[in-house]
Amino acid sequence: HVHTALLFGIQLGAAIYPWEEVSGYDENMNTIRTYQVCNVFDNNQNNWVRTKYIRRRGAQRIHVEIKFSVRDCSSIPSVPGSCKETFNLYYYETDSDTANKVSPAWMENPWIKVDTIAADESFSQVDLGSRVMKINREVRSFGPVSRQGFYLAFQDYGSCMSLIAVRVFYRKCPRVVENGAVFPETLSGAESTSLVAARGVCVPNGEEVDVPIKLYCNGDGEWMVPIGRCMCKAGHEAVENGTVCRACGSGFFKPSQGDHQCLQCPINSRITNEGATNCVCRNGYYRTDSDPPLMPCTTIPSAPQSVISIVNETSLRLEWSAPRDGGGREDVVYNIICKSCGGGRGGCTRCGDNVQFVPRQLGLTETRVHISDLLAHTQYTFEIQAVNGVSDQSPYSPQYSSVKITTNQAAPSAVSIMHQVSRTPDSITLSWSQPDQPNGLILDYELQYYEKSMAEWNSSVVRSQTNTAVIRGLKPGAIYVFQVRARTVAGFGRFSGKMFFQTMTEEYKSSFQEKLPLIIGSAAAGMVFIIAVVVFVIVCNRRSSERPESEFTDKLQHYTSGHRMKIYIDPFTYEDPNEAVREFAKEIDTSCVKIEQVIGAGEFGEVCSGNLRLPGKREILVAIKTLKVGYTERQRRDFLSEASIMGQFDHPNIIHLEGVVTKSAPVMIITEFMENGSLDSFLRQNDGQFTVIQLVGMLRGIAAGMKYLNDMNYVHRDLAARNILVNSNLVCKVSDFGLSRFLEDDTSDPTYTSALGGKIPIRWTAPEAIQYRKFTSSSDGWSYGIVMWEVMSYGERPYWDMSNQDVINAIEQDYRLPPPMDCPSALHQLMLDCWQKDRNNRPKFSQIVNNLDKMIRNPNSLKATTPLSSSVHLPLLDRSTPDFSSFSTVDEWLDAIKMGQYKENFANEEFTSFDVVSQMTMEDIIRVGVTLVGHQKKILNSVQSMRAQMNQITSVEV
Ligand code: AMP
Repeated sequence: HVHTALLFGIQLGAAIYPWEEVSGYDENMNTIRTYQVCNVFDNNQNNWVRTKYIRRRGAQRIHVEIKFSVRDCSSIPSVPGSCKETFNLYYYETDSDTANKVSPAWMENPWIKVDTIAADESFSQVDLGSRVMKINREVRSFGPVSRQGFYLAFQDYGSCMSLIAVRVFYRKCPRVVENGAVFPETLSGAESTSLVAARGVCVPNGEEVDVPIKLYCNGDGEWMVPIGRCMCKAGHEAVENGTVCRACGSGFFKPSQGDHQCLQCPINSRITNEGATNCVCRNGYYRTDSDPPLMPCTTIPSAPQSVISIVNETSLRLEWSAPRDGGGREDVVYNIICKSCGGGRGGCTRCGDNVQFVPRQLGLTETRVHISDLLAHTQYTFEIQAVNGVSDQSPYSPQYSSVKITTNQAAPSAVSIMHQVSRTPDSITLSWSQPDQPNGLILDYELQYYEKSMAEWNSSVVRSQTNTAVIRGLKPGAIYVFQVRARTVAGFGRFSGKMFFQTMTEEYKSSFQEKLPLIIGSAAAGMVFIIAVVVFVIVCNRRSSERPESEFTDKLQHYTSGHRMKIYIDPFTYEDPNEAVREFAKEIDTSCVKIEQVIGAGEFGEVCSGNLRLPGKREILVAIKTLKVGYTERQRRDFLSEASIMGQFDHPNIIHLEGVVTKSAPVMIITEFMENGSLDSFLRQNDGQFTVIQLVGMLRGIAAGMKYLNDMNYVHRDLAARNILVNSNLVCKVSDFGLSRFLEDDTSDPTYTSALGGKIPIRWTAPEAIQYRKFTSSSDGWSYGIVMWEVMSYGERPYWDMSNQDVINAIEQDYRLPPPMDCPSALHQLMLDCWQKDRNNRPKFSQIVNNLDKMIRNPNSLKATTPLSSSVHLPLLDRSTPDFSSFSTVDEWLDAIKMGQYKENFANEEFTSFDVVSQMTMEDIIRVGVTLVGHQKKILNSVQSMRAQMNQITSVEV
């Protein structure tokens, strides 16, 4: 490591007598030139020899290596004692080469003595004789030097010696690349012990770590004490022994400063340029902030697989397997999206907040969820989304698998609270709340009770159609245990918890009797109050009847069995129909209404679904009918007349009016929302999917609504399945109280045929109403029979494609609609009763309700259906299966019986001619792939009818 720079070679400068230049030999017997002096016999020697001027060249310390030989004084015979075996070395600094024979003076000061140098070995006469020289080698150094240059001088003062070689040099540390930095050539310091610090410069693309990087150059020209270091920065790696930082090449990256090498890009990532500090994900692949840069880029998971749904009444269990492809990640979780698909309009809406998900709806880590509190008998679609840590970075929505399910009918939930209304010694009157989830229309309640001290199996049962009951025949002062449960078409719900109530004791009763005069006294006072109220009411009535627009008020009220019964008021009897709106419909501020989506087209504008939040009330779902812009005053009046009519009704089977918006545009009528839309389309969409009891339950609801309208003296005139709305609990409500479609000038809807004095829906209307506009609740009864037929045939068009005139003629000739397929005879009989020619013979709605209730209570009465063959003999239209001979192919025939969706199934199994089709059995029908029971029956019926028609044709031909 010693690096020296030669300042000066062997040549010596001006020699001064008696030094002389002679030739000699070195130890290897090479001839060399030396300077010699040997004046040992003379005293007081002072012989100098001086070098040429030597340039300093930046050195601060100068080293001198001297090769010389010295004669051993003792080997010189009779030499005086002044003989020496040493000499002195001097230097003299100066900025220019100005020395001459006299200057600088030959003496110490101006010369500076470096050292007296002695020979380690001196040679003798013997050596001389053998011509072998004993050569000494000594090194001395001096400094600091600072002038441009210097001279060296050797002083002999009485020795016999020769200077063979003088080498003059300085030491330096060379340029090095060490610890990632370049250090420049650095000369050693002035003293042999001094350290000269050198700052390193990091190699290109290297960076200092922490402290400035340094090395020290010592007096021997060696680097030492390294401080700090450089490392290759991100995107670069150290090569060639750490002397070069090279950019990471294609497909490689280095995320940070450091000694490590470039790394290969993880899967699904790539670099965009050399010297990459990270690899970017390929299109469609992502990383989260917390993903380490070495992790492969990942993508969104594929959809969950093999979804299994298990419906249990109104709850549901969903299970699925993990996606085939987790996108390369382990953090896949699942979200459940619930949509309920209301019948009739095809659209699905997000489920409300009340649906429960266990363990939760979003972020499921397990592949199963339990969902409850769904609506009974409703179609739902559940989407199971798979998402992972990078799903939110993807522009695509998560992949999902969906299942469609229909909840079952479900029994009502349990009644939660029961109160005692009153009691006597032998009776208790109780009332209770409706179950939270009726899941349908409650037909009645069953109250079970027993005396607490007796065994439970001894219990008695009472039924009640309302939520109160009087239990009589009880023992005085006894404690009874009560439980109640509700019943719908789906059966009984669970019993409520047991509740205890006690009858009054006899003593209490007698003490009550003793107090009777007092109570009567106070009752008399109460009477006075009641009379006062009655008088006040009468006065008020008088007052109001003085108003001209109230001339009908008197006949609007009558008394039934002591109850004041409200009578419907035709809004058109008001001089100003706006007055009727103000009276019967609540004005709603438009800010409370939030329109969500269009669900249908009404006569006057769109029908939308939305939310209504009245101050201090819970937000509810509503239907919003709007009046389109640019309406005439008359249209506005006709539009709002429906609200004035609806607003007068309050019954569970009549669509409920929430209110109207008339003070701002658009004008709106807001009603309760009926999730399943209109009954006709709802049934068509669920063809064959309900039990007879469920269908009868719907009919019962419609009849109850009509009974109420009848009691209110309101004639509907347009009772038809299309005007019945169905909610999520399958409760049917009568709607459509608009009057305008009967008006002459509207010809847009072919259902309503112009007749004298207005338009009439012929197929639904009783003959006397068609002929001489005799609209009564009996004519509504006829229409009710048609609705029954529509319901039992799942929305078939009454009289199919017959023309209106043919319908009128057929009815006139006493033809009536035949029983729909699978229709219980009892129900068809009820239809026929409704279609009695003499309207007085038709059943009243109250009778219809009772009749249906009986059937529901005794489902056996619904078992009997009319056999196909016997219908031929009834005075009916039998058009339930069209005449096959009017079709040329089986496909056409399938279309005609509305089973066109099975064309391919039939063709695949070679049922392509009427001959084969007419021989089909139920097994054949199932084999071709008809799975819905309703459809199986429909096809079988049509096949049987085809067979019958074929037989007839054959016999005619014979
Ligand atoms: P309408 O003008 O009453 O015949 O209404 C037109 C359509 O809007 C109906 O056939 C229904 O599909 C729908 N609709 C009307 N009222 C409601 C409601 N209260 N709830 C749900 N849908 C409704």
